[in-house]
Amino acid sequence: MTLRIHDTLRGEKIAFEPRDPKRVTLYVCGPTVYNYAHIGNARPVVVFDVLYRLLRHLYGEDHVVYARNITDVDDKINKKAMDEGVDISVITERYARIYNDDMTALNALPPNHQPRATAHMGEMVAMIEDLLERDMAYVADGEVLFRVSAWDRGAGRYGQLAKRSLDDMIAGARVEVAGNKDAAADFVLWKPSKPGEPVWAGPQGLPGRPGWHIECSAMSEAVLGLPVDIHGGGQDLIFPHHTNEIAQSCAAHGHDDPAAYARYWMHNGFLDFSGEKMSKSLGNVVLVHDLIKDYPGEVIRWALLSGHYRSPLNWTPELLEQSKKNLDYLYGILLRAKHVQPDETDEESFDELLDDLNTSGAMSRLYLLAKSVELSSQNPDVISNDKGNFLALANILGILQQDPEKWFKHGATDDLSAQVEDLLKQRAEARAAKNWPEADRIRDALNALNVEVMDSPTGPTWKLKASV
Ligand code: AMP
Ligand code: ZN
Repeated sequence: MTLRIHDTLRGEKIAFEPRDPKRVTLYVCGPTVYNYAHIGNARPVVVFDVLYRLLRHLYGEDHVVYARNITDVDDKINKKAMDEGVDISVITERYARIYNDDMTALNALPPNHQPRATAHMGEMVAMIEDLLERDMAYVADGEVLFRVSAWDRGAGRYGQLAKRSLDDMIAGARVEVAGNKDAAADFVLWKPSKPGEPVWAGPQGLPGRPGWHIECSAMSEAVLGLPVDIHGGGQDLIFPHHTNEIAQSCAAHGHDDPAAYARYWMHNGFLDFSGEKMSKSLGNVVLVHDLIKDYPGEVIRWALLSGHYRSPLNWTPELLEQSKKNLDYLYGILLRAKHVQPDETDEESFDELLDDLNTSGAMSRLYLLAKSVELSSQNPDVISNDKGNFLALANILGILQQDPEKWFKHGATDDLSAQVEDLLKQRAEARAAKNWPEADRIRDALNALNVEVMDSPTGPTWKLKASV
């Protein structure tokens, strides 16, 4: 089984070959924790969670190391802390916890490492010292800046990831042309803190705080080692964030080849809302924290995986409703086929996912497999290969792993569940005693509770009618 991925650096779909199949490494840029995550921020989390699950399937659970950082040093964090009159750690702890809870609600597995910038200051400072020593960086007005031309040396390697010339990139990204820069493309590695902001002892003893890009360069090297196999994030990170990570990490170690930092680069497309990229700055955001109050996490996850990860995804209420219907349909089959025993899986079940994470293709396969499971469920004691295939594929997608009864009871309180179970017991007794008026009365009582009973070879199951 070969995994093929679209590598942003080479600009094509290629076979993935890890540096060491016993230790496959994945680094994904995580959130800046000063606010609630919106559903666009959840897209990379869910997409790379599918990749993580697939890599674990291919190489073994203990042979994949996944790091997703927390950016806990940032201007926006400082501003929020000042506004609330608290230490930045109060803000970062609060939003990191909410972020992790929200992503868990979307069935995202916890990464093996979740490094925080504040815990890796020493590595950042050391890397900046190395860059200064190699003349790849310079000090100006208390800042340390990276000298892009010193690494690029006219070879165009700085623009290799973004596939654009230096001039285009600078014009497009409206890079700040500060007075202390030798060239517009140069970027900040270290800068002084403003009064009242947290301060660390920096390179050459300069007090201040790191720039955003150096945080990821230091953390990925510290927790995974270089080169990382796959580095990922949203397309907006290609330039300047990932471009600058490559430049400074390669320059610090005397490498010219961008692959010395990360061997493959993967970027997800944007999630759009009302025709524009969802973003905090545009204010058109839907928070994961709010969505999970109204929809099961699996529904949101299905919606996020319903399109190809590199394509834009238009977020609409209809998309959520359709995702809910699809899951209800498939869980309905699992419910009626509860007695069917899953058998060994076939490797071809993963063909779509192995083709650059074609999740929507994998979902179509789930439908075909479900039809086969449905057919076999008419037999009271059957073993089905396709049920095994269905469950294994759904597991990589991170969906359809719940007990189907539990799925349909979503929203039912414990009280209601106990009441229904009790009525079902009474119904069985009434039927056994051929007490039909009593059985009818119980049926009406269940109806009044909005409960639909389904009889199956292994006994009755039930669901709330409104949920289908
Ligand atoms: P941020 O907190 O803005 O740095 O974003 C965290 C992650 O979410 C990064 O990988 C971004 O590329 C990604 N991201 C932000 N907005 C969107 C969006 N609308 N669609 C898809 N990914 C996004
Ligand atoms: Zn990063």
